[in-house]
Amino acid sequence: MSNILIEANNISKIYDRDIFFKRGTNFRALNMVDFVLKEHDFIAIMGPSGSGKSTLLHCLSSLDQVTTGTVKVLGDLVNDLNDFKLSAFRYKYLGFVFQNHNLISTLSIFDNIATPIMLAKVSAKEIIERVNKVAQRLNIHHILDKLPEECSGGEKQRAAIARAIINNPKIIICDEPTGNLDSKNSHEVLNLLSQLNKEGTAIILVTHDSMIASYAKTFMYIRDGSIKTVLHRNNSSQVAFFKEINKITTEDSLLKLFNNEDEKTLNKNEAINESNKNVIKENIDYSSKKTREDVYAVFKNRQISLEAKKCRLLYVNEDKLEYDNIFHEHRIIFIESIKEVTLSFVAVFKLLGVFSEYIYNVAIDLKTDDDIYQFKLENIDDLSELFEILNKDSIVINDPIGIQEIYKKYPDYLTRHRYIQRNYKKFKKKINN
Ligand code: ADP
Repeated sequence: MSNILIEANNISKIYDRDIFFKRGTNFRALNMVDFVLKEHDFIAIMGPSGSGKSTLLHCLSSLDQVTTGTVKVLGDLVNDLNDFKLSAFRYKYLGFVFQNHNLISTLSIFDNIATPIMLAKVSAKEIIERVNKVAQRLNIHHILDKLPEECSGGEKQRAAIARAIINNPKIIICDEPTGNLDSKNSHEVLNLLSQLNKEGTAIILVTHDSMIASYAKTFMYIRDGSIKTVLHRNNSSQVAFFKEINKITTEDSLLKLFNNEDEKTLNKNEAINESNKNVIKENIDYSSKKTREDVYAVFKNRQISLEAKKCRLLYVNEDKLEYDNIFHEHRIIFIESIKEVTLSFVAVFKLLGVFSEYIYNVAIDLKTDDDIYQFKLENIDDLSELFEILNKDSIVINDPIGIQEIYKKYPDYLTRHRYIQRNYKKFKKKINN
């Protein structure tokens, strides 16, 4: 079995489309990020304020949805999981630790730690045993009867960690866990997290402090919503790792002060010095990245339906396709420039009032000489006209599951939907092979 816990593929996040008009074309809280968290990983994320750290944490932990791209948790696409399954995933696998501990002020430390398991069917005896055990381990057994306000900052943060690990989560997500602590308490908390990591818990940690980040095994530097640099500690010392992290963050502050154009020169010229040669550095190149666009295909001479009005539109003409991409840039694809088309289905879980079920959208990849355009068509109804236009010229059409045939054979939506529903697993296998 794969040991990948969380996998994000080419994810972007735009909170509010209107923000584009206020902030300019480059505003993306996250921009085409890839991220993989495996068992035993310990990843520290740093970046300037507003660079997208919290957004990334929220998207990875399924607390928020991405605008484009996919997030998989334990092999399942977050989009395919309903609210119940997502809550179950968060409850069973995730522990959260935040900067201001988020303890409930009216509950004792004991009750705060016990909260996650009180909601599950755990007996009172077991709750007492588990809270005591974790409190012993974190050296906070003497404050279990106190209220949070009666404890020191370090004690409160240790209580927050106790609450995060009471359920033995596979993953701990920490957002500035030492933000309010002095240096001694910060290092205690980090030693604790390192110990948990050694025992197998994967950790993602957001921090503004290079020293704190140096406890991790992997360091990621994020700016303007993109991960710019990744460092792997490998078997170098913590001090060597700290120095490399510091270099990246200081360099970035300098680039912001002077000229961003210097970045390429700096990255090119940089050689990790002898003592730090075990640290492996990757600079991430975003120039060739693609993102699948969710669009509704509207055909010439047809009225725009109510459903289409809620979506981004792909205008389909005899000779060209036109649309605005997620960054509001206008794009035209001339049909004659398309060399190859690939068709597949994407299952999207939809909550429809009291009903909820999967809708099967058509995913279409258009390859031209200089680009690949990837769309997910929001249309659940007739797409035959689009297929006809694409079939006209000598374009190669890869259609391993016979989507065009399915549309011909089952023009009625409901019959087609049931057919796809019955065969979806089979289709998926065919595409994966
Ligand atoms: P960081 O954690 O690195 O400080 P965030 O992820 O909080 O950065 O924010 C990234 C960008 O997204 C910022 O410009 C911020 O203003 C914006 N942003 C964050 N949350 C929201 C939200 N809920 N609605 C609109 N914009 C948001």
